[in-house]
Amino acid sequence: MPEDRQPLKLLFLSTPVGPLGSGLGGGVELTLINLCQELQSRGHHLAVVAPTGSTLGKIPVIEIAGEWQPTAHTQGRETPITMPGNAVLANMCEYARRVQSDYALIINFAYDWLPFYLTPFFQGTPLAHFVSMGSLSEAMDVIIGQVAEQFPRRIGVYTHTQAATFPFPQHCRVLGSAVDLSLYDYCDEPGPWTVWMGRISPEKGLEDAVAAAQLSGIPLKILGKLEDAAYWQTILDTYPEAPIEYLGFLPTQALQAIVRQCRALIMTPRWVEAFGNVAIEALACGVPIISYARGGPTEIIQAGKTGWLVQPDSIEGLVSALSQLDKLDRRACRQQAETEYSLAALGDRFEQWFSELLSISA
Ligand code: UDP
Repeated sequence: MPEDRQPLKLLFLSTPVGPLGSGLGGGVELTLINLCQELQSRGHHLAVVAPTGSTLGKIPVIEIAGEWQPTAHTQGRETPITMPGNAVLANMCEYARRVQSDYALIINFAYDWLPFYLTPFFQGTPLAHFVSMGSLSEAMDVIIGQVAEQFPRRIGVYTHTQAATFPFPQHCRVLGSAVDLSLYDYCDEPGPWTVWMGRISPEKGLEDAVAAAQLSGIPLKILGKLEDAAYWQTILDTYPEAPIEYLGFLPTQALQAIVRQCRALIMTPRWVEAFGNVAIEALACGVPIISYARGGPTEIIQAGKTGWLVQPDSIEGLVSALSQLDKLDRRACRQQAETEYSLAALGDRFEQWFSELLSISA
């Protein structure tokens, strides 16, 4: 931390769709742990408010009971906001309200209506928001837009393409993501496999990666949270001959031990991927990426060097890119992760954002 910067007391509100460590929160879980570790190592004092059962390494978690929120990507664009009776999100916000004067800033990581709505109600301590997905709901667009208009700089996002899905991209502060490079080992000589990883849920388009594995004959390892079992069964029924292997949801250490041995990571988003933490985890292992040119991966992949961007929804495009993996440079992948996605770079961006938030509210 620069000498003129004071350590800050920061309160983070986690995703209320499930406990941290369960994988239900998707990439925002990894972003949170990485950010917390980096800020803590810089001397800041952090507490994370999260549903009961959450774990976050050595970071203190204040566990809050209550029912989880439905995930935003399973709701339609027009669906009204849903709150369970004893909502963990409401309980988390109530906790933050009570302790707010102990903190310099509160940062919300929940992609949910309530904390945005409550922004003006937090008068003692500024409440800012890290938005982890693109536009998915009319009601969310309205409430995030109101905060963006009324409170300059309070909206952080992962990427420019994510920001562009909202009606207020000019108000979004792009903060990116990072990997803890010390946890991912470089591998120069992969095995024959490719890998797909993420939540097994329709917006991730896994069926196209499976189809490409069947067409190309290149075996595919699949890692990730089985979020939608019926969807997964349909994939198995549709492609019974595909050379695939599902290894379950793995913690980071076990995940990277598999990923680094693979020839490429395949990403097949049907939605505008807000970032795609899996992309930078692969790069950290020296693994290039083949992705549909949609959302975050278009800002991450250096086409022809650290991956290939494929026309969205084109299985032929995936197969053709698979035949050109030899042109990519595994060393350059690791190097890109080191230069662009270090924890230090993430910590600098967030510290800069925090100091702007504090100087505006002073
Ligand atoms: N992941 C994991 N274990 C697995 C597969 C995936 O921990 O077996 C994590 C991965 O590290 C990444 C997250 O799942 O952090 C997926 O995040 P991403 O940003 O790619 O997509 P999101 O789920 O946010 O849409």
